[in-house]
Amino acid sequence: MTSILRVALPVPLNSLFDYRVDGEVAAGCRVLVPFGKREVVGVVVSQSATSTVDHDRLKAVVRVLDETPLLNAELMTTLRWAARYYQHPLGDVLQGALPVALRSPRDLPDSGIAALRLTPLGEAAHRDAARRRAKRIDAVLEALAAGPLPSVELAKALGSNAGLRGALAHGWVERVRIAASAIGRETIPAPRLNDEQRVAADAVISAGGGFAPFLLDGVTGSGKTEVYLDIIRDCLARGRQALVLVPEIALTPQALRRFRERLGVEIAALHSGLGDTERSMAWLAAARGEASVVLGTRSAIFVPLPRPGVIVIDEEHDASYKQQEGFRYHARDLAVMRAKALDVPIVLGSATPSLESLANVAADRYRLLRLTQRAGLAQPPALRVVDLRSQRLQEGFAAATLEAIGACIARGEQALVFRNRRGYSPVLMCHDCAWSAQCPHCERALTWHRREARLRCHHCGFEQRVPRACPTCAGLALHPVGEGTERIEDALRAQFPDVPIVRVDRDTTRGRRARDALFDRLPDAGARILVGTQMLAKGHDLPHLTLVVVIGVDEGLYSVDFRASERLGQLVVQVAGRAGRAERPGSVLLQTHDPTHPLLSVLLNGGYRALSAQLLKDRRAASLPPYAQFALLRAEAPEQAALTAFLTAATQSASDPAIVAHGPLAAPMPRRAGAFRGQVLIECGDRTAMQSFLPGWLDTVRALPGERRLRWSIDVDPVDLY
Ligand code: ADP
Ligand code: ZN
Ligand code: ZN
Repeated sequence: MTSILRVALPVPLNSLFDYRVDGEVAAGCRVLVPFGKREVVGVVVSQSATSTVDHDRLKAVVRVLDETPLLNAELMTTLRWAARYYQHPLGDVLQGALPVALRSPRDLPDSGIAALRLTPLGEAAHRDAARRRAKRIDAVLEALAAGPLPSVELAKALGSNAGLRGALAHGWVERVRIAASAIGRETIPAPRLNDEQRVAADAVISAGGGFAPFLLDGVTGSGKTEVYLDIIRDCLARGRQALVLVPEIALTPQALRRFRERLGVEIAALHSGLGDTERSMAWLAAARGEASVVLGTRSAIFVPLPRPGVIVIDEEHDASYKQQEGFRYHARDLAVMRAKALDVPIVLGSATPSLESLANVAADRYRLLRLTQRAGLAQPPALRVVDLRSQRLQEGFAAATLEAIGACIARGEQALVFRNRRGYSPVLMCHDCAWSAQCPHCERALTWHRREARLRCHHCGFEQRVPRACPTCAGLALHPVGEGTERIEDALRAQFPDVPIVRVDRDTTRGRRARDALFDRLPDAGARILVGTQMLAKGHDLPHLTLVVVIGVDEGLYSVDFRASERLGQLVVQVAGRAGRAERPGSVLLQTHDPTHPLLSVLLNGGYRALSAQLLKDRRAASLPPYAQFALLRAEAPEQAALTAFLTAATQSASDPAIVAHGPLAAPMPRRAGAFRGQVLIECGDRTAMQSFLPGWLDTVRALPGERRLRWSIDVDPVDLY
């Protein structure tokens, strides 16, 4: 019997497409269909008997690619919800949920791992110890006696393939593919959880497996990861899968090793450093239930979990969970929706929880679990301000700061200088006429990268050579203004000539390999001073680190972004958390021109807890998120007039008593990459009202004259207003 399939296609159109098909095809299956002159892979959304398109004009499906849905029913429901919530085309959402390699009509790759195991003959040979044979072959039989091993691992363990060749020739060993979950490993025993950790883990375990959201608020180094591991161990014992999300920067080989060694299972890792095939294999291993633990970054939230047990979001406050282009979802918020749909507990962990999650705790929606003590012997670091007023600074450093760094090195310990700007200086200025190098496309200062003798725009990528003389007055007095990590590194080298210094920012860590290699060196006591951006703020255990210096605190205190103070507090506390993780106590110096700033005082006296309470109070008073809902329409156009006309019309058409529309607003960066940019901010008292307002309004916006000549997007729950 012929029926109609509604199919989501990878095309930039806000609609689904109908095709004829014979027989039943479940939602979530992929189909190959004709589209224009091409054939494309689509995802079936639903099947029905009728179509709004004339039957004669309907094309037939070329081939049904999956017998069982690749995106299961739960995932389809959640993704449809997400498409509606974020006002993003369903076709794009569904395509985005699939790994790239699965968006083609090729056969699915085998998700198993290439492994070797003993044949029954081989087992007999192994038992027959009296028999004389080559030692190398014995080693192979011995290594495989406890069960199959991935080929790579066996090769590593043996050091040579000669014995293996022999064992294969005898028919004692065979090559197989095995599911990741079939590989048993030796585990490293867990430390005994302290009382707070035990209470936290038990709260989640005893929730009984059903949906229950928890916020695990634990100071840095309090052993949150140990709590996750304990919960996951219980989940595995119940035969269930665990999904763990971490920020991009935290998914290091060390982190993977820790999970693997402690849980004794193969981990399906999903991150941007993988090739398409590896990624799709890990994804399929999870989707087929072969992988019991999935450890991934933001987009791993779209992994199907046929045996769901628990979801963990580590560093839940981290901004990298928000997708900033295309389908602008927030992985943390989606994770909570998925946990609800899957009916499993979810643990959001952080030393500096987002104000959103703290508000959910206050409203009794999330249960709060706290770890107030550092695990083991480690002491919390002491926070101090260094007053920069009327001080003579040396390349941005106060004398007191340099003294502290010197003393730290003299004690044989490690110091970290944190500065959230890469390059040599954020501005290059002419001392004679005050000209400064600007990006011709963004109207923002170009950053001077002195090592490469380039001026670069960090907003659009524009770059040029550094001029020898001022283009305006021909003077030669071009001077750097402000400090980036390069300049700080130079200043420290001048001050401490014989001390090894390692700089960590995007410029020194291009490529995953370079990054992993550099990160591997950090904990070594030989790297005495670390200079870096927020790449250094999390994830690394640095046992020799006892001093952290934060440069540029004031920029966070005086930003226009209403989230800047929350971010600054999180950053300071996270960077501070790197210090004093072993036996030696740590200290943190905050350089500022405003030592009595109220937010700094709150942070210094009461820590992040006091700061977040204060910020929540301020947000409530000002009706800002999380006590209000925002949606941001961003637009850019080649001409200002077209932009203004569009934004004015969009603002005027937003006439619903439940919302307030602010617009047209200039974007915080009114020009970028040559385009003029502006926005309309929609503010609303509650989620439901916002959700019922947006679809109708966006339909109107889509129909505005001139809409096609500019680029625009909608961001529901934006994390920044840029
Ligand atoms: P967090 O995730 O909160 O930053 P970790 O779980 O990484 O903290 O723990 C910090 C350090 O303390 C790690 O080296 C870890 O092995 C150790 N640790 C955690 N819990 C315990 C415990 N109960 N007993 C001993 N050491 C622990
Ligand atoms: Zn000049
Ligand atoms: Zn630019």
